[in-house]
This record gives sequence, C-alpha cells and structure tokens, in this order.
Amino acid sequence: MSGYRPTTLRLAQNHCSKAIEHYENGVPYDRRFFGVGIAAHAVLQAVGEARTRNPEAIFTIADKVVARLITEGRTFEGEGEPPMDHDSAFAGRDLALEYLRWHPFDMREDEVFELGLAVNSNFRRTDYSPNAYCRCILDRVSRYVSQEEDSSGARVVKIIDYKTDWPCDSSRLDSLQLRAQAVIYDACESRNSWDIMIREVVNMRTRESWQDVIDVEDSGVIDRWRSDLRLMIKAEEDKLDRESGARLASPGGGCIGCPYALRCDDSLDFSVDSHPDFTCCEYATVLALAKGIEPACRELTAQEPKDIGGGKVVGTVALEEKVINAEGAIEIWDEWEEKGGDVRGFLTAAGGMGKGNALAIAKVIFPSRKQKKEREEWVDDRSVVVVKRRFGVHKKEVDDVE
Ligand code: SF4
Repeated sequence: MSGYRPTTLRLAQNHCSKAIEHYENGVPYDRRFFGVGIAAHAVLQAVGEARTRNPEAIFTIADKVVARLITEGRTFEGEGEPPMDHDSAFAGRDLALEYLRWHPFDMREDEVFELGLAVNSNFRRTDYSPNAYCRCILDRVSRYVSQEEDSSGARVVKIIDYKTDWPCDSSRLDSLQLRAQAVIYDACESRNSWDIMIREVVNMRTRESWQDVIDVEDSGVIDRWRSDLRLMIKAEEDKLDRESGARLASPGGGCIGCPYALRCDDSLDFSVDSHPDFTCCEYATVLALAKGIEPACRELTAQEPKDIGGGKVVGTVALEEKVINAEGAIEIWDEWEEKGGDVRGFLTAAGGMGKGNALAIAKVIFPSRKQKKEREEWVDDRSVVVVKRRFGVHKKEVDDVE
C-alpha cells in the first residue's frame, strides 16, 4: 500500500477512503478536475527552471509543454498518464502565461520548482517514493537572505503554492495541504537551516496571494500541525478493512464532485444496500454520476440537442421566460411616481432587490475589475439572511439551519 499525500488525505476527507485506493491504483480520474491545474503547473515549472523573462522564450517553452501534454501525457511519480485533452492543456497554459505576465519569476538561482519531499513514520526525511509514509510536492521553494528592514540578514525559506481554482483565498493557508507542506519541509530540512518560513498561496485566476510568516522561534505551530497530520493518517489506517486491508467505500454524498465517480464500482453499483439511509445515499450517488456525465453530454449536444426517445431531448434548448427588462422597470417606476410614490415606498412594495440586480449596480459603483471583492462586500453588507427551503444534497451545516 502506498503512503499518503495531502492530496490523498483530502480525497478521503472530501469524498471517501476508497478514493485514496483509486488514486493509489492509478484509476483514471475525471480529468476535468485537474487538467487545467496540471498544465498550468507544468508551464510554471518549465518557465521557472529556464530562468528567463524573455516573452518569446516563455511562449516557446509553454507551447513545448502543451505539445508534450497533449501527445504523450505527463509522467507522474514514474507512471505515464494518458495524453491530456486539448482544452485543458491550452487553458492551463494560458492561465500560467497570463499569471507570469503580471508576476514574472525572480529568477533566483537557488529557487526550486516541483520539489518532491517525503518522510517516514517518524517524520524523518526519506527518499521520495509512492511508498514513503507521507510525501508532498512543493510548487516553488526559494531560499534567500532577507533584505527587509525588520528581518535583515535572516535566512528565509519561502514555500509557494499555486492554485488554479477560483474560490482559493487566504483560508487555504490553514488547509491540510499547506500545513502538511510546512510539516514535511520542516522534517526534511534542519531547523538550524532557516530563521523564517514564509508560506504563500497564490490564486492564479485572480492573481491574488496571501502569506504568513513563521519565525523559527515559534515553530511549535509546525509541531502541532505534524501531530494533526499523524492523527489524520492514523484515522485512515484505522478505517482499513481488517481482513483484506482494503480501503472501504462509502457511496453517497461524498461521490458528488469525486473525481472517480464514473470509474468507481461502488458508486456505479449504487444498489449496495449498506447504509441505513440507503435511498438518500442512492439519490446522491446517482446525482454524482449525472454530474460526472454532464460535460460529455454537453459536448455531444453542442451543435443540437439529441433525441433520446419518449418525446425527450438532451441538450441546451431555448426556453421562453417573461422578464421585466430595464424599459419595463422604468415604465413601472414612472407609473408609481405619477401616483405620488417615492423611491423608498417603491422598493418596499417591490420587496427589495435581487442579488443579481444589486451586483449589477455595484459594478457601476465599483467599476474596476480589481474591485470585485469590494463589490461583493458592498452587496453582502446590504443583504439579510432569509431561510429558504430547497430540496437536494447539501452540506451538513446547511441542513442543520433548515
Ligand atoms: S465515487 Fe463515491 S464511493 Fe467511489 S471513491 Fe468516490 S466517494 Fe467513494
């Protein structure tokens, strides 16, 4: 059985233990989940290692990376993966290039990209291999001597993690993955070798980044994270089937968004009657399968909907819906005003305003693309919480509110 990576522990956390087994066994995953990220990271690595800021050289390097990904596929941990779909490869490349346009690399000689580190069960450095107790790959590591006024002369290690998902924000610094990176780096490199550790997470979509600083004097925090990581691994080991040592599947809510949903016997065989709330798990699993197949259906029906019999088609169709456009809204207001009404009464009678409308107004007040956060906060500050009941699969906290 392979060792653990923050990625595999997260799979177990978000989906189920069986997902780790699928990962370990190299079960082909739904590439929509990772393709863009893989391509973007591969481009960043190639450009970073070439130590160039020349735009033409960067484009050439990026195109070579894409050509390799779509013809040969990548090799990860010694295993070849199938060629990547063109859309993901191009999208990942473009994302990386756009990011680099705004944030060119420093070209430090001592900078390392995609650094694989591993530890044994005593958290001592060991060779990076799938069998290592716990391992991770650091996107970018820089080591340098600080020139900052308040830390001048301090030996800095900076660990940067690049994210390609839109929702990434500062909270990722507290994620299992980023904490595990600090733990594993700390275990592999002596604490005598650095004075300050900077952990940085970058959202490549919004080009925002967040960082925190750990002084070696306060490195007790890393000890705490190490103990949490140990506990998580132990919890996964405890969940293994006692006889076969296999990881057990829990089809249900976790299948939604699971990259293995379409390849997993346990989710496909949703008639497995193992959960007390079987019917609800069955519903969630079928939903996960439908979501998994949806992109392929969208592609197949991109030109026109497909007739599936029974008077039904699958695809995107135009449905008519009556809406009140700006002109209609002005007429309503004019009539309101003619009858002596004011704005306050108008909005009260209308029962407020939809969030979409408020965001559209916010765009006029905060026109810059960089003001997205202000816009959202502005709308949020003017919103109140109402409880709506909606059937479906929800996160547990939402169910609790209802
Ligand atoms: S599809 Fe469902 S049962 Fe299968 S690994 Fe993912 S979460 Fe587990």
